[in-house]
Formats: sequence, structure tokens, C-alpha cells
Amino acid sequence: MSEALDTTGAGGLAAGVRWDLSHLYDGPDDPRIDADLDAVRDAAEAFAARYRGRLGSLSAAELAEAVDGLEALNEPAVRAGAFSQLLFAGDTATARHGALMQHVMERSTEIRAHLIFFELEWVGLDDSRADALLADPALAKRRHMLASMRRYRPHVLSEPEERLLEETANTGSRAFARLFDETMAGMRFAVERGDETEEMGEEEVLSLLYAPERDTRRAAAAALTRGLKQNHRPLHFIFNTLVQDKAVGDRLRSYPGMMDSRNLANEIEGASVDSLIEAAVGRYDLVARYYRLKARLLGLERLEDYDRYAPISGAEGVRSFDRAREIVLSAYGDFSPDMADIARRFFDERWIDAELRPGKRGGAFCASTVPDLHPYVLLNYTGNLRDVMTVAHELGHGVHQYLARSQGLFEQDTPLTTAETASVFGEMLVFRRLMREEGDASVRLALLCGKLEDAFATVFRQIAMTRFEQTLHAARREEGELPVERVNELWMAANRPMFGDSVQLSDDYAWWWLYIPHFVHSPFYCYAYAFGELLVLALLHRYDEDGDPFVPRYLDLLRAGGSDSPNALLARMDLDIGDPGFWSGGLAILEGMLAEAEALAG
Ligand SMILES: [Zn+2]
Repeated sequence: MSEALDTTGAGGLAAGVRWDLSHLYDGPDDPRIDADLDAVRDAAEAFAARYRGRLGSLSAAELAEAVDGLEALNEPAVRAGAFSQLLFAGDTATARHGALMQHVMERSTEIRAHLIFFELEWVGLDDSRADALLADPALAKRRHMLASMRRYRPHVLSEPEERLLEETANTGSRAFARLFDETMAGMRFAVERGDETEEMGEEEVLSLLYAPERDTRRAAAAALTRGLKQNHRPLHFIFNTLVQDKAVGDRLRSYPGMMDSRNLANEIEGASVDSLIEAAVGRYDLVARYYRLKARLLGLERLEDYDRYAPISGAEGVRSFDRAREIVLSAYGDFSPDMADIARRFFDERWIDAELRPGKRGGAFCASTVPDLHPYVLLNYTGNLRDVMTVAHELGHGVHQYLARSQGLFEQDTPLTTAETASVFGEMLVFRRLMREEGDASVRLALLCGKLEDAFATVFRQIAMTRFEQTLHAARREEGELPVERVNELWMAANRPMFGDSVQLSDDYAWWWLYIPHFVHSPFYCYAYAFGELLVLALLHRYDEDGDPFVPRYLDLLRAGGSDSPNALLARMDLDIGDPGFWSGGLAILEGMLAEAEALAG
């Protein structure tokens, strides 16, 4: 399945695979860009003149007409914004591109200023009036969107209070978060190998934890610990401060639970999150089982914490971009020919930019544009297995966004928790296809181990991190400022149950919470990763049980976009995410994969 290919040529394996942005505009100097933005500004002014101060007196039908108008007038601005951002992503080095992006951004801000009254007036309506409007069939299509806008109403403070908090945050919580980033970015880690000591940054030292040589991994872990210990004073102070800042914010905004504000943003009920956590913790035994297998594969008695990311050899090799296209389209086609047809259009109609180019943005993404066009995918294709999975991932987003266009601009996008559904599902389809095609047992085993480690990092590790945050925030609220040893203890207490006796966690590991940015930037963000992954596995489990009848229902789910809450959309498929049994379906798939890996290992 792998081919020997020259990856060093200009453009790499996907040389010449560039997107065609002319579907949006002809180029950065296309006069239609400013003509569109002028028209949007005029329309926004007219909209404000017509509706400002009147929202409370509109009938449901009039309000529906207003939302339709708002949506229609926004479209050209979204088109211009998407074009300028894609142009910049494809070539950040051309000054004209950066300038256009800034120009469109500034003009869009000016336009938004005319329209902000709409949201403020709507959220300001009292509940009885808003509820009466929302109950009217004339607003059925907009019910979810309008209700969502109001969900923060109980937690919003008065205007002067909000302004005060907004302004002081720049020298308060946001300044501490930035200090964290700058401290981490400035840290150097001294990796000692033999007689040599090499200084490096965080990214580099973390990447050495994936090295095949055990000495290198051990040295990297020791260097990471040393660096964190040396810098623990500012980092730990930042943690203590931001955890308390969250407690104060929750009190001022009347959030009873420490996870409530995050759950509200994710459009997820606390009970669903609780049952997710409960289900994952209930299957921590899978983690220990996997790491015992991994120790055997690596020829080690027991894994040390720095062995967790050691590679299992077997799945190396390089695949051409055409080969990646073929793998992804055939895997998608096995599931649904319609889905493969949509994905094929990305290749055939040049909605993908995959070649390597100087000045092009790194990584990969899929960007939605406007409903009457199509999304675009950016890749940096180098041909390893991870890249093939990335093609599958981004095209999953692509199919999702393409189908959800039917909801229109305001309802096409999903919240964070379900945004990764089609992408991770697409990766699983490709993974299964590769497993079916691969004859060599050692390659199959390496593929399986790679997939299991990805899934474990996304499910169990994120749940352990969430449980750490729960105890951290609870301890800070009850015990006051926490000594660093106390936080170390909470970190170990959250991680130990997951590994059981399969991985030896050293005293060094107790310091490793100090570098994780999510705890600083977005408290309780981590469970969303576990949610997304287990949701996909549960869907896959349902597919395995139901077979073909599942397919159109799955495509309907994608087509629904963000037109309703995740709970409600999944309920249409008879899936209840508040039921711990729902999550165990996904966990059962992981167990099946683990059993397969154990069997292959013999
Ligand atoms: Zn994604």
C-alpha cells in the first residue's frame, strides 16, 4: 500500500493541486469586493433605520421577515470575508493579501456596528414576550437561533458593569493568559543526551517524546520536568489567579456550577456531560489493557510515563496524493455513493489546495463560505499516513458543510461539540478501509495501535484532564490559594486511575499540568474532544447495527447543520446523549479494536 516516491520536489507530492478562488472573486483587486461591501453597508443602514427601537413591537411574521432580511444582507460580506481569508491562507507573504484581509475586516466591523442593536434588543425583551413570539409557527425556522441568542440572558450584567469587566479583563485575566503564553514560549529546555546538552523550546522537547529511542524519550521527559519546575512560580501563580478569576466570574454572573458557562456555550446539558464522564471513567480498564499490550510490543517490562508515545513500527511509507484521493473516495463510497460524489467535487472542481508552497499557511482546515457556493479545503500534503487521514478528516468537514448549506447562513454552522462529527467519522471510514485492504499483519497492528492511541488521547486523556479541572476548581473554591504540591497531588489523583498499574507515573509527572494551555485559556474545554470522538464512535456502532438504513439518517444529521441543538438533532435519530448507555456503544468499538490488536500481537 505504500509507494516509494520522491517527496523533495517543489510543491511536494501534491504539486499543482491549488484551489480556484475565482468562484468567489477574480482577485484581490476585483472591484466587486468593495461594491459588495458598499451594498451591504447601505442595506445595513436601511435595516437599522427600519427596525431599530422597534423589535419589541414586531409580530412574529414581521420578526421572521426581519431575520430573513438580516441573513440576506450579510451574505456578500461573508463572501468577501471568506475570499480575503482564503487568499491570505494560500499566500501569506504577499502584502496585498494581508492588506485586503485587514480592509475587509475593518469594513465588516463598521457594518456590524449598524446591526448590533438587533441582538441587544432581542435579548433585552422580557421572557413572556419572547416566549410568545418563539411559540408562533411563523418563526419556526428561526426558533433555535433566536432562543440560542437569549440563553445568556440570565447571566448578563448591566451595561456599565459589562463595560467595566470587558475593559479590566485586558489587564486582568487576559493579561495573565498572555503571560502564560509568553512564559511558555520563552522557556528553553536542556535535553541531556550522552555528553551533549541541547537547548530547545516546548514544541521540540514534546516531539522528542515520540522518538523511537528510549534514551531520547527519557532525556526529553527529564528536560521538560526540569524546565517546568524551574519556572513553576509564575506558571503556578497564573493558574491560581485564573482559577479564582473563574470563581468570581461565575459568582457575579450567577452560574451555580463551575462547568455551567462552558456547557451553555457548547449547547449541552450538564447531565449529558456527566454521563459522558461517567461512561469514560467506567472504561479506564481499556487504557491499562492497551498500555500493557504496548509494553509487550516494545519489549518492556512496564511502561514509564515517557514511553507512552513511543512509536509502534510498521505503517511508515509514503502515498501519492492521487492514492490518497482514491483511498478516501473509495472509503466514502463504500458508506454512501452520494457522500463520495460530494467529496469528489472538491478534487474535480478545485476546491482543494494541497501542494506545499512557501508562504502558505501550515496545517489543514476546511472553511465554509456562503450557502450558494461551497466550502474550501486547505492541506499541506506530504504523503504519510497521518496526511491521508487528514484528507479524510477535512473532506468530512467539507461534506458536512456542503450539506448544511441548505440551512442558510445563520443555521449552517454547528457548535463545537458536533463540529467534528463528520470529520472524525470520515477518518474512521478510511481507517476501516485501510485495515480491510492491508494484508501485512504488522502494518495492520501498527495502524490499529495508531488509531487506538489517537482515540485514547481524545477520549480518556481529555476526561482525566476534565476531572483534574473539576477537583482543581473545587479545591480552590474551598481551600483558598493552593500550594503547588496540592495541585500536583490533584493532577496525579486524576491521572492514576486511568493508567492503573500499566504505566509507572514518576514524581516528575506530577508537574506536567503546568504546560497545558487549555486549563489557562478555556477552562473545561477538554471534554468537548471526548464528546466529539465518542459521539462518532457511537454513530459508527449504530451503523454497524443498523446497516444501510443508517446512511440517509446520518446524511440528514449533517444536512441539519446547526439548525437545532445537538441533543435535539441526535434525538431525531433516536439517540439519547443523556443516557450513559449511549456512550458505551462507542466505547465498545474501542474495546473491539483493542481485542483485534491483542489478537494480531499474538
Ligand atoms: Zn476538524
